[in-house]
Amino acid sequence: MDWFIEYYNGSALMIKVKRKLFEKRSLQHIQIFETVDFGKMLVLDGKIQLTEKDETFYHEMLVHPAMFMHEYPSKVLVIGGGDGGAVREVLKHEPNEVVMVEIDRDVIEACRKFIGIDKGALNDSRVNIINEDGVEFVRNAKEHFDVIIVDGTDPNPVSQSLISQDFYSCCGRISDYFVTQSQSPFAQREYFEAILRNAQFENRRIYIGFVPTYPLGLWSYLIGSNTRKIELDLDTIRGRFEERKIETVYYTPEVHVSAFSLPKWLDDLVKLF
Ligand code: SAM
Repeated sequence: MDWFIEYYNGSALMIKVKRKLFEKRSLQHIQIFETVDFGKMLVLDGKIQLTEKDETFYHEMLVHPAMFMHEYPSKVLVIGGGDGGAVREVLKHEPNEVVMVEIDRDVIEACRKFIGIDKGALNDSRVNIINEDGVEFVRNAKEHFDVIIVDGTDPNPVSQSLISQDFYSCCGRISDYFVTQSQSPFAQREYFEAILRNAQFENRRIYIGFVPTYPLGLWSYLIGSNTRKIELDLDTIRGRFEERKIETVYYTPEVHVSAFSLPKWLDDLVKLF
């Protein structure tokens, strides 16, 4: 038995592992472990991307708020998300088409083979997987998307461009709603502030959720739209939730609405940008 340690600025998380199932250094350093208490775990460049035990907490809160804000999300773009968790949640809304733009095909193949949280979503006929840089894709996109979901890694050499002003403004032009994971505002303040500075939309809100295996557990998401309001009417969200009959572990309409009520220190920080 051994320990996997993820180091943050001045703190760390230790996860007890039984064995390493996969390792490859390609575009990124990909590792997959069998852990003692968190199921399978995907690590990219030394950062935990998911564990089976809490990935639903993250993927549900990344996907469902924007998808339920849209009255009829039929064409969806997922950028990143190579493990398939985000696409799995998107398909619960019965869209006509999902495009997944993932830069590293090795992540897709390794997750399909050793983890499987996509539960077949990546083989669904409505899903079109494109292996390229998400920034290039949106820069050249000629089509419009009802929702764009960015499920990228902590900023690293391949994902750094996913927090650029150019990327966000391209996404704002071709979508009704845009959502991205926006790191930990508590443990990764410099990343969080960079995202707030660059992600400018007519209507924009931050919301939060609990992801135990991400840096110090408090995770954030940024949702933006240049044409739609950020829908937080509980009856509207409840109505769509009941209509679409979606099974969840973490997300509910009440959690959706309450996730946008930020603690004062965070609300004050967001107001600075
Ligand atoms: N849930 C994780 C988090 O919040 O940190 C993200 C998980 S997912 C595995 C991240 C994916 O983003 C990886 O598969 C990575 O290859 C992909 N990615 C990183 N940069 C990208 C880019 N510029 N374009 C497309 N995909 C990218």
